[in-house]
Amino acid sequence: MHKLSLASLLLVMNGAGAATQTVDCGRLLDVKAGVWREKVTVAIENGAVKSLAPTQGKGDVDLSAYSCLPGLIDMHVHMSGESRKQIEELRSQLSGDVADQALRSVPFAERTLKAGFTTVRDMGASDGLNIALKRAIDAGHVPGPRMFTSGQAIATTGGHADPTNGLSRELRRLKGVPGPEQGVVNSPQEAREAVRARYKEGADLIKITATGGVLSQAASGQNSQFSDEELRSIVATAKDYGYRVAAHAHGTEGMKRALRAGVDSIEHGTFMDDEAIALFKKTGAWYVPTLSAGKYVTEKAKEADYYSPLVRPKAAAIGTHMLETFAKAYKAGVKIAFGTDAAVFPHGLNGKEFAYMVEAGMPPLEATRSATLSAAELLNQSNRLGSLEPGFAADIVAVSGDPLRDISVLQQVRFVMKDGVVYKRPATLD
Ligand SMILES: [Zn+2]
Repeated sequence: MHKLSLASLLLVMNGAGAATQTVDCGRLLDVKAGVWREKVTVAIENGAVKSLAPTQGKGDVDLSAYSCLPGLIDMHVHMSGESRKQIEELRSQLSGDVADQALRSVPFAERTLKAGFTTVRDMGASDGLNIALKRAIDAGHVPGPRMFTSGQAIATTGGHADPTNGLSRELRRLKGVPGPEQGVVNSPQEAREAVRARYKEGADLIKITATGGVLSQAASGQNSQFSDEELRSIVATAKDYGYRVAAHAHGTEGMKRALRAGVDSIEHGTFMDDEAIALFKKTGAWYVPTLSAGKYVTEKAKEADYYSPLVRPKAAAIGTHMLETFAKAYKAGVKIAFGTDAAVFPHGLNGKEFAYMVEAGMPPLEATRSATLSAAELLNQSNRLGSLEPGFAADIVAVSGDPLRDISVLQQVRFVMKDGVVYKRPATLD
C-alpha cells in the first residue's frame, strides 16, 4: 500500500473539485505593479488561483516568513541532456541508446522544477526525447516543469542542429542522410516540410539554428546557415500552425536575416550590432540572452580536455561578448525574455542568470519580470502564466529575503508549487 504524499492527496482533492487550499505569503510580488503586497493569502482551486486576499487566520500552507513570486519561466533549456566532457558525450553516442538518454533526463526535469522554474521552453532534442518528456510530466509520471517544446530544431546540412555533425563517414552512412523529418532542410520546400513535420510530432513552437553554434562539431560559430527564402518559408509555414519561431543566432548577418524574415525571438544574440538592435525594435522580436551558457563555456574552455579542438576556441571567445551585448541591448530598449540554455551548464542552476543580468545593468525588478511577465508574453500565455491573479495557474515559488534588494536569493528557492501541487517546501514546514 502506497502512502499518499500531501501533494498527491491535494491533487486528488482538487481533482474532485471540492477542496480549496490556501497559501499564506508573508508578502507577494505583484509583478505588474512592481510592488510587494504584504500578508497575502492565495486561495487555490483546481490548480488555479481562485482569489488573493489579506491574510486572516491560518491557511493550509504557512509561508508567512517568506516572499512569494509567480513560478519562474526559463525560455531556453534543453531538458534532454547536460554538459559533460565531449569524449564522454561521444562514447554515449556510440554505445548508448535513446532510452538511456531519456532516463538520464528525468532528474534534470525535477532539478529544474525544484529550482523554482515551473515552466520552461525546451529548445530542441533529437528522437522526440523532449516531446516524450513533456508527455511524461503532463501525465504525472515524472516531476518536472510545464514544458513548451520545439521538438527537433531545424537546421541546414552541417548546420548547428544537424544531428549527424562530427560523425565518421561510416556512422553517417549507417544513419542515412538526414532530411526535413530529422530537421535538416536545404530549400524553401524542405523548410516547409520540416515545419509540418514538427506539427506532426507534437511540437509547441519552431526552433531554427540561423547561424553556427558553439558546441556543435563545426568550424564556425557565426556563419549564416539559411537563405532568406528558406527563412521566409519557415516563418510563413509556422504562422499557418499558430507557431512562434525562435532563432538561435550568434553571428550578425544570420541574426539580421532571421529578424527580417519575422522570427519572434533571437536566442543568444551574441554579435548583435546597432543595425540588428534597430531591427529588433522595428519588428518587436524578443532577445533571449543565455548569459549563463556563455559564462560556463568560457570557463570550461580553460580545461584542456573538456571540449574538442574544434569547439574549444569558439567556447573561449563567447562569454564576455554575451555580457557586453546584453548591457547594450538592455540600454537600447530591446525586449528581453529570461533564458539560460540550461544543459550547456548543469540543470537547476538556472537562477544564476538573474545575477548575471543584474551585474550587466538590469534592475532586479526587470530581471524578475523577464522570467515572469515577459516570458509568458513570448510564450503567448499571458492570460494564465507569469503573474499571480485569479484564473492564472497556481504556480508559486517562495524565497527568504527580498530578491529586489538581493537578486541572489532567487538561486535558493525554498517552496515550489505548480498547478496547485507542492513539489518543494521549507524543512521547517515538514
Ligand atoms: Zn540552446
